Parts: sequence; structure tokens; C-alpha cells
Amino acid sequence: MADIKGLISKLTLEEKASLLSGANFWNTKAIERLGIPSIMLTDGPHGLRRQAGKADHLGLSSSVPATCFPTAAALASSWDTELVYTVGSTIAGEAAATGVSVLLGPGLNIVRDPLAGRAFEYFSEDPFVSGMLASAMVKGIQSRGVAATPKHFAVNSQEHMRMSIDEVVDERTMRELYLEGFRRVVEDAKPGAIMTSYNRVNSAYANENIHLLQDILRSEWNYKGAIVTDWGANNDRVDGLRAGSTLEMPSSNGATDAQIVAAVKAGTLDESVVDEQVEIYLNLVFNTTEAIKDAPKVDFNANHDAAVEAARQSIVLLKNEGPILPLAKGTRVAVLGDFAKTPRYQGAGSSFVNATRLVGALDALTGDQTLEVVGYEQGFKRAGGKSSGLRHKAISLARQSDVAIVFVGLDEARESEGIDRASMELPANQLQLLKELTAVHRKVIVVMAAGGAVELPFIDDIAALIHGSLGGQGIGTALADIITGRSTPAGKLAVSYPTVYSDSPTANYFPGKEATAEHREGLYVGYRYYETANVPVRFPFGFGLSYTQFTYADIKATDSSVSFSVTNTGDVAGAEIAQMYVRPPKSEKYRPYKELKGFSKVYLNPGETKQLTISFDTHTFAHYNESASAWLVTPGEYVIEIGASVKDIRLEQAIQQAGDNVPVAPQAEIASAYQTGDVSNVTDADFEKLLGRPLPSAKWDRKKPVTYNDTVAQLQYGSIRGRLFYGLLKVVRRVLFIMNRPNSANTVVFIMNIPFSRLPGFAGGKITQRGIERLFGLKKT
Ligand code: BGC
Repeated sequence: MADIKGLISKLTLEEKASLLSGANFWNTKAIERLGIPSIMLTDGPHGLRRQAGKADHLGLSSSVPATCFPTAAALASSWDTELVYTVGSTIAGEAAATGVSVLLGPGLNIVRDPLAGRAFEYFSEDPFVSGMLASAMVKGIQSRGVAATPKHFAVNSQEHMRMSIDEVVDERTMRELYLEGFRRVVEDAKPGAIMTSYNRVNSAYANENIHLLQDILRSEWNYKGAIVTDWGANNDRVDGLRAGSTLEMPSSNGATDAQIVAAVKAGTLDESVVDEQVEIYLNLVFNTTEAIKDAPKVDFNANHDAAVEAARQSIVLLKNEGPILPLAKGTRVAVLGDFAKTPRYQGAGSSFVNATRLVGALDALTGDQTLEVVGYEQGFKRAGGKSSGLRHKAISLARQSDVAIVFVGLDEARESEGIDRASMELPANQLQLLKELTAVHRKVIVVMAAGGAVELPFIDDIAALIHGSLGGQGIGTALADIITGRSTPAGKLAVSYPTVYSDSPTANYFPGKEATAEHREGLYVGYRYYETANVPVRFPFGFGLSYTQFTYADIKATDSSVSFSVTNTGDVAGAEIAQMYVRPPKSEKYRPYKELKGFSKVYLNPGETKQLTISFDTHTFAHYNESASAWLVTPGEYVIEIGASVKDIRLEQAIQQAGDNVPVAPQAEIASAYQTGDVSNVTDADFEKLLGRPLPSAKWDRKKPVTYNDTVAQLQYGSIRGRLFYGLLKVVRRVLFIMNRPNSANTVVFIMNIPFSRLPGFAGGKITQRGIERLFGLKKT
């Protein structure tokens, strides 16, 4: 191992500053005279996206073939830490074999709202599942010597205006929901790197947020690894260093290196701050370079099989009337829907993997000897639009079948990084097909390809619903295995499925449109809301069916754990995911009705019983107490619930906790919305009380001239030149939609959301601040 301190003493200030930003899009700088190598950092969370040619952070240009695993939202439905570990280590094996030192993943932001554009890239609405699965993935990745990069730290809850939006959130909510998964990953898995998000958190940009990076991540959680900016997330380089940020990516072409040098020379930045980050950076470089240097060759066939297994475990069976599934040998099936032939198996954006192989469900079912496929019909145009001809053909084919399997879903442009979903509905042409088909066919099975929840107005008219999610390159084979019963479904939802979008707690607040995103719902995200406010959902958190049944018995809670037994009482082998929820004492006026604090997945043969034990940890009973700035346990009675979903509780036991001396806020200080959970219309005054400060303006200040620090979208109220440019962007976007090029139209939205100050970085330094100010008619700063 290199003598890092010795190396630092030999580096000039200019060299040190230069090491703290990229050499180009994916690589860092080498300093040959001292033998410091360059390293490569590359996406991503569900497969390697190593670009050999043109580079971009939006998944636009191609990358070398790699195994595409299920996206995080799909993998989370497996609730399987061993499986996720294997996925992590397999992806890292591919990374190491091509000289990649740092893998940019996993993503573990909380799915705050069903329409969040990157929900498919995140595990769950719950921080416990997110933290457990992300830890498993980090451990898997790092078992190959590659450093993992949990992202995006923090509170990156929406895509709209993601590079500038200020996420306004109270400290307790931030700690209990948005940071809790990251805490677990940092403490349990010790990631080599962490990526800061683009957004601001309570006014300061994440990458220069002293409270987030210094107080919490570095001091409280004792994080020793590198802090890397998201691509283009650097706002003020010197402030970033002061907060403890290590590496700016991609390259700033020397611009920010010069700022660091100038600040040290001017005495506004202590050189020891630079040295500290250089030390962290060099540790990352030498540790990973050494660890991956003899990485074995990749066996892509074995990795494809691993992707199929991951997909099998990620599939969730949501409805099975009859039960119609699994289909009996020889069943005559009509395979309908564009997604059967052209699977949607991953999301768009920086996580996009160039899959080594892809098996669609149509191919898998046709190649299968078990069922008789009477034919395939597309049924609808994938991107939406009138499809009556396709629909009629599909319906007439269905009439020749015993069972119609319809593959529906969201297309590539509807669910993508950089843009939030516009609605929770399926495109109208798909709904129309289902409506007309179910009117003439009693046995319709729907298979859904979507990275998040969708409204299901047809649910009562279909026989079965399989949530295939975005299951990676093995999804077709995995679906065929589930449909024919070669495999028993075991997945359970890691997000709630509200009946309609307007039922979700954030429907009135999401997304923040201009300056801020207000987390008025506080702690009541996902099931925390539905359970507390008693709002029925279509499918609850933790729900999923099997081809067998399980019974639970013999609960016994001690001071440190709870144990119980699970028996497979059905005819086939299968896995059950048992969940542990904790209900707090009634004396706590503001707290979700119950919270997930443990789970255990168990494989059982028919008739088999196993004893399971779930341990408690320091956060099982605690809440984050703002008055004490600490995690504390309220003394009193807690109920441990063991269930098959948040709604299907099979066992429970009350236990006493002596607890801590908790400073309790007087009841009158907690707004009734936060006591009842009825948070869909929280007033300004109530939210300000929760925040403990006045609300910042949610709107842009249109009286102020638009400057270099604002976003391209703000040109809409800027100078005449600015307004013309903005108008032009809007026209281009519209035309691209009309030309049926929705992905290119989305790229226009990415441009609108960019702060001008990031443009030089994205343009590879080919344009200067002054040039931008002149071009867009901005007021000089
Ligand atoms: C994304 C990151 C990604 C990076 C590099 C950004 O746009 O937010 O998740 O790792 O690009 O591609």
C-alpha cells in the first residue's frame, strides 16, 4: 500500500487541488511523477454502464454490453438480502474486469410519491427495507474490491428542477425517513464513496450542506470514505470542500481547481482541509486499484442466469382468482400487448445498461413446451395514441384462447430520470384494450411492466395480475417460469399501491414546482400515512401472493428479539417474507401508527416449519427527538406485530420499554393533522410549526432579474432574449412530442432544469460564464 501521507507531502498545492476533480467524464487525474494512477467511476445501480466512446450522464450514448439486473424497485420486492448481495458482487465483478474502481450505486432515496421519476431506481418508501437492501448491495459490490457509491445524499425526492430545487423538510422527518437508510448503509456496510445529490436541502446545496455532510455524515456517523458530487452537482467548490466533499465529477477543465488554489492562497480555505480530502481520495484510488488489478474474467452466461434468478425473486403476484395461476400444461394462451415482444425491463437515464442478452416473455412462452401459444398481437401502440386496429386484432385472437395474457405497462419516455411521471394512469389505449377484452373474455391475466405504482381501474375484471416491474434482462424467462408454475412467486411490494393518485399523502404537494419542494406530510409517507389516516389502498405495502400458503405461530418477544414459527401448509415449495412492525405507545402524539423494523425471508417445503428470529436494534423503538437532538425511546408499551403484509398481521405481542427521559412536546404544539395523520392539506402555519422556522417562498422571485445562478427555465420571465430562447425550447419540445420522439423531448426538459452555472461543466469548458450571460441576456453577477 502506498505511503499516502508521504505522497501528500510531495504534492504541490496545484496538484492536490487538481486531484479533487475529474480528468474527463468518467476518469480522475493521474500524477505520473508520483505514481498516482487515474481511476474510473461508472454507473450504475443495476448493471455496469461503462462508456467507451461518447460520454453522458443521461444514458444517451451507448456503453459496453453488461448484465442488466432488475432495477432497485424490482429487486426490493425480493426482500432478499442474500440475493441483493449476489447482484452487487456480480455487477462489481463485471466492473472490476474492465478496470472500473467505483460503481455509482445503489440508489436509495425514499420513494416519497408514486410519480417520482426515478422511483424505479430506488428501493422503497420505507427506510428500513431501503437501508437493509442497500447495505447488502454495498457489501456485495465491495466484496470484489470495487467501491460502492450509495446515492443521492440526500432528500432527492423529485426529478422536476432536480438541480436547483430546495427540499424543505423538518429535521425529524429528514432523520427518520430520508437519512435513515443512508445511516444504516454507512454504519453497516462502510461504502468507499457516497454521492451527493443535485438538490438543496433546507436551502444549502447537498454537496456543500454543512449539516448533512459535516454534522451528520462525517461526525455523527463517522463516515471516512469519499464524498463524490453527482455529475455536475458542484455549486461552489470551496464551500463543498469546507463541508467535507471530496471529489467533483465530471471534469471542470481546471476551473474549480483554480478556485481551490486561489482560496488557499487568499487564506479563506485552510490547506489542511484540502489535504484531508486528498488523503481520503488517495485511499480510494490505491485501495481500489490494488483490489481490482487481478480481477477474473467475466462469465456472462452465468451472470445472465443470475439475472433470471433475480427477476424470479422480484416478481410480485398481486391477484390470482380461482386460482387461475399457475396455468395448467397445454392451456391455450393468447399473448397480447407490445410489452410481451419488446419487454420494458429497465428505466431510462444514467442507469441504462446495454444488456448482454434479452429474453422477452413472448419468446420465453413460445419456446416453452408447457403452454400452447395460439398467437401474439401487439394490441396497442406502445407510446400511446389511437390503436383500434391493433386492439380488434388482439381481441379476436383472444377469442381463440383459454386464457389471454396481456402485457401492459409504462413506456420508456413516461418513466425516466430527469422527469417525474405526469400521471399514475396507464395510457388510454391500453385501458381501452383491457376494457373491451375483459367484456368478452373471462380469463384475462395482466402482466405489468412499470417501475412504480399505477392505477388499476380494471382490477375487478381480470383474473390475475402479475407485477413484473422492471425486471432486467432475464424478466421474460422469469415470467414464463412463474406463469407455468416452474417457479413459485415470492415477491412482496416494497411500496404501497394507492387506489388512485389523489389518495396519496403527497398528491397536493408533489412535485415542488419552482423554488422549493415542501414536505408538508412530514413522516406520513407511504404506508405510514395510509395506516395512520385509515385510507384504504389497492395493494398494501408488503403484500404479495404465493402458490402456497403459510401459517404463523408461537410468537415470543424478549428484550432483544422476537421469534415465531412459519409453516408452509400448501402443496408446493415456496418462500415467505415475514415482516415485523412496531406500534409505539399511545402517549406519543405524533408518530406513524406502525413502522417496519425487521423482516425475514424463509424457504419452506410443503408441510415444513421453521423458527425465525428477528433481532431488535438501537432504532427499533426509538424516534428522532428534536428537542434532545438524539434518538430516544419513549417509555411505555410497544406492540410487536408479525405479518405477511402491513395489513395482514398474524401475530402480536406487547412489550414494555423502560425507555429514556424524553422531552415531550406539549400536545397543543403538535398540529392535529400530525396527530391524526390527515396530512393532505396541511396549512402554512402548521407546517411552519413543524419546521420550526418561517416557510421560504415556493415561487421564484419574478421581480429579480435572472442571473447565472438561476435555471434555464427561469428565462420565461427574463429579458426579451431569454424569453425568446425559452419559447423556442418549448416549441422544440412540443414538435419532438408530435414527431413521436418523446425521449428527445425529455432531453429538452433536462436542459430547462439546468442552472446556467452548470453549463460550462456540461459543455466541457467550451463556454464561459460571461459568454452564457451574454447569450441569454442574463444580468451580470
Ligand atoms: C445521475 C447519477 C449518475 C450520474 C452519472 C446523474 O445524472 O443523477 O445517478 O450516477 O449522472 O451518470
